[in-house]
Amino acid sequence: MSDRRTFLKGVGASAVGGLSLLSAGTASAAAPPADEYIAADPSNYSDDYRGAADIDWVVVHITDGTWGSAVNWFQDSRADVSAHYVVRNSDGYTAQMVDEQDVAWHAGGFNSNAIGIEHEWHDGQNGISDAAYAASADIVDHVASAYDVPKQYFTDPCAAANASGGIVGHTNAPKYGDCGNTSYKSCPQPAWDWGRYMEFVDGSAGDGGSGGDDGGSGGSYAWEYFSNGDQGEDVYTIQYLLEQQGYDLQYHDGIYGSEVEGAIESFQSASGLAVDGVVGPNTWDALVVTVAGPNDDPWWATYAAQHSLRYGHGYSIAVDGYYGSETEGAIESFQSGAGLAVDGIVGPNTWQALVDLT
Ligand SMILES: [Zn+2]
Repeated sequence: MSDRRTFLKGVGASAVGGLSLLSAGTASAAAPPADEYIAADPSNYSDDYRGAADIDWVVVHITDGTWGSAVNWFQDSRADVSAHYVVRNSDGYTAQMVDEQDVAWHAGGFNSNAIGIEHEWHDGQNGISDAAYAASADIVDHVASAYDVPKQYFTDPCAAANASGGIVGHTNAPKYGDCGNTSYKSCPQPAWDWGRYMEFVDGSAGDGGSGGDDGGSGGSYAWEYFSNGDQGEDVYTIQYLLEQQGYDLQYHDGIYGSEVEGAIESFQSASGLAVDGVVGPNTWDALVVTVAGPNDDPWWATYAAQHSLRYGHGYSIAVDGYYGSETEGAIESFQSGAGLAVDGIVGPNTWQALVDLT
């Protein structure tokens, strides 16, 4: 499936229209609203060479993790997701990662006419800072003038489905124009304040932009959400932890498919959780098993931690399910780097950091 994309990349900028003069392929410079261009992996978006008439919407998202982890993930060929822009919460610093004429993958069923903006937010942060709202509003201003997108927002997917364009949150984006078909995700809630955001978009926020220093402290991590269709190192973690919980899986392949979804639903039901097949904070809390050291023997959980340390975090250790000094050293090194208590024990906080930082 990458053949067509590869071919189109090979055609080069000479074959495409005026937009490419601003930003062509991987050699792109950041568009005016961004501080830096950090190219997403080419397998995480579609080469599309959209024209101005094709771009009608801005979709706003929250990362549910750090700015750095989102930027890293979009550069990872396993991600299969991306966004055009990622805005940092502490200061509004913005990376552009996908050219605007290409289709980033951030809101399934709604991407082809949209520009996606990810805003850093995770549990423990009070909300979106004024600095981030201001930076995001700058992007909207640019998109509105470049592509004639109206500066109006929608929280009703049916109103959005009937509109010619505007700004919509991920949760309310009507898939394929069908307002009965939206994402199950709550993104960009609980962080998003439409009233405050639109003050910046409308230019009525006064001086604003003073910046909100409301988080980002070391050692504060959040559980990311995973569901059918997701891939990557954290899905291996889910698969191995399901094995630890007694679910016998056929596949350990880092792909969240129907087998993982079915096992998660069984686990949720058995654990008294809402059964939705989505691994969110409550399911993670129930799923993780503490790896306490050589005298404790959760084999699959140890294997999961080793696999994450090796393939998600770059520690060249054996992945064998046995806790020895090599595993202990890697855990302690990871904990130190992540700002966690260094005790060699993979408990809930260390599990959360292992997942959040991949
Ligand atoms: Zn989203």
